[in-house]
Amino acid sequence: MSNIKIVVAGPRGRMGREAVQLVARTENYQLVAVIDHKHSGKTLAELDGFTGLETPIYDNIEQCFQEHKPDVLIDLTTPEVGMYHTKTALQYGVRPVVGTTGFSVDDLAELDDLCKEKELGCIIAPNFAVGAVLMMKFSKLAAKYFQDVEIIELHHDQKLDAPSGTAVKTAQMISEVREEKQQGHHNEKETIQGARGANFDGMHIHSVRLPGLIAHQQVLFGSEGQTLTIRHDSYNRASFMSGVKLAVDTVMNLETLVYGLENIIE
Ligand code: NAP
Repeated sequence: MSNIKIVVAGPRGRMGREAVQLVARTENYQLVAVIDHKHSGKTLAELDGFTGLETPIYDNIEQCFQEHKPDVLIDLTTPEVGMYHTKTALQYGVRPVVGTTGFSVDDLAELDDLCKEKELGCIIAPNFAVGAVLMMKFSKLAAKYFQDVEIIELHHDQKLDAPSGTAVKTAQMISEVREEKQQGHHNEKETIQGARGANFDGMHIHSVRLPGLIAHQQVLFGSEGQTLTIRHDSYNRASFMSGVKLAVDTVMNLETLVYGLENIIE
């Protein structure tokens, strides 16, 4: 198989560092450049933690794409920047694999149209951990039998968006099979605003932010006399990399947008 030429955006970030190492150590992957809004003109090897990687750093994504013509962009940045990077990649015929969270429904619709127009694959996955994807699938299965559900997502306190992309995706998947229902007492009142969390089709999502956490979620189902808890924990960012690799390999054969790793895992 010929080499897949890859650009990583956000290489100094916690996820980006893992992705750089993944690409550097994978046999048929070639890390041709990285996108960073700092250190343009240097190589990764000049920064802490990237010994031996003579990969050029660009702050201008268009210049990077023109000079290196990569096959895939892996984006692990912030929502606004990630959206710009993803659109630019598609304009340049580069297939995006996006881990950046916080894209809106409108953003996704716009990218879906762009993928169709360009006949190019793009994978956006709010959670690349295979275990988290299974948690979502199991939750969808359970929701057929349990109408009442609360989602509690727990993340480190540097996370910018709430609720997490995984929590929203879980709620969407549950909604596909769960009859819509307003949960709790119909006269329920919050004495402190926000106490019942965010409301998604009547189910509640609670976001916990604490130092020490990485990415965790539990989905609690309740019915008469029983509860069921489905929980997943990511203890480090390496837990996401097998999913990133699966997405890179898969996106090469796609011509549309796929949102969520669950759509490429049997
Ligand atoms: P992080 O450590 O804050 O990293 C983000 C990086 O993006 C930083 O190095 C930041 O640089 C850089 N950046 C900001 N603007 C940029 C630009 N214009 N060009 C290039 N790089 C730019 O965050 P993280 O924990 O790695 O997470 C990154 C994203 O992935 C977030 O959206 C997070 O929610 C998401 N995430 C996804 C998964 C998944 O499985 N899909 C898992 C964990 C996290 P500065 O610090 O210098 O601004």
